[in-house]
Amino acid sequence: MKKVSIAFLALFLAFTACQRVPLSNRNQLMLVNSSELLPMSFKSYREFLDTSKVDRSGSDVEMVRRVGRKIQKSVEDYLRETNNSDLIKGFQWEFNLVESKDINAFCMPGGKVVFYSGILPICKDEAGVAVVMGHEVAHAIASHGAERMSQGMLSQGILTAGQVGLGVAMSSKPQQTQQLYNSVYGMVAPAATQVGYLLPNSRRQESEADELGLTFIAKAGYDPQNAVGFWQRMAAASNGQKPPQFLSTHPADNTRIRDIKSHLPKAQKVFQASR
Ligand SMILES: [Zn+2]
Repeated sequence: MKKVSIAFLALFLAFTACQRVPLSNRNQLMLVNSSELLPMSFKSYREFLDTSKVDRSGSDVEMVRRVGRKIQKSVEDYLRETNNSDLIKGFQWEFNLVESKDINAFCMPGGKVVFYSGILPICKDEAGVAVVMGHEVAHAIASHGAERMSQGMLSQGILTAGQVGLGVAMSSKPQQTQQLYNSVYGMVAPAATQVGYLLPNSRRQESEADELGLTFIAKAGYDPQNAVGFWQRMAAASNGQKPPQFLSTHPADNTRIRDIKSHLPKAQKVFQASR
């Protein structure tokens, strides 16, 4: 597709297929909405668990699930209070801990969360787990994956002018659409994807997830101040031989930490009110 027509298409779509991110109020391009992605997400999540070593019991699993349930409740309350409950329609929350040395965690559409045991030492304690959980869940609530899928569909020509929806994409280019999903949600190693030019999460999305995540954890009764310590520990972990997978998508630099500190006063008020 020529550059001009892509620009035109983007403009056209900007008026037709947008939604707003809660809290930041930013307009985002949505050619496919999060709820459409749920069946694909549930299937991928199941397949991922089936091929992973899932921890079934023990204090770490209990901690991850406890934090998950608290964050789930605070998200549900927050969205109800801000009239955004439709964002979690069809969610089937699940919180699993997978045994792996990799430092990673993610939340797929529909509230499907995975923690790798390798991230727990950097989380340090329950409050640190909450920081990561709040951040990853925030990506799902803000439909960041669906937004990146939409961008990918546009740039790869999976959908053309006037076409919207996962059904259309799947019926015309099923393989490419599935591949795009896998690369956006990290179901394959980044090096193996055909869409390496797609940024895992934009800086903007990261910042939104940090801010929303702070609100979620504060509302769940965790001191949002813990986020600063977590990102400092994550930054320190990057000094090792092999930088953590999580860091390749989540730069733990001074900009992020400064950004988080600037959101703390507001989050602290939410925290105080939750006690
Ligand atoms: Zn993130």
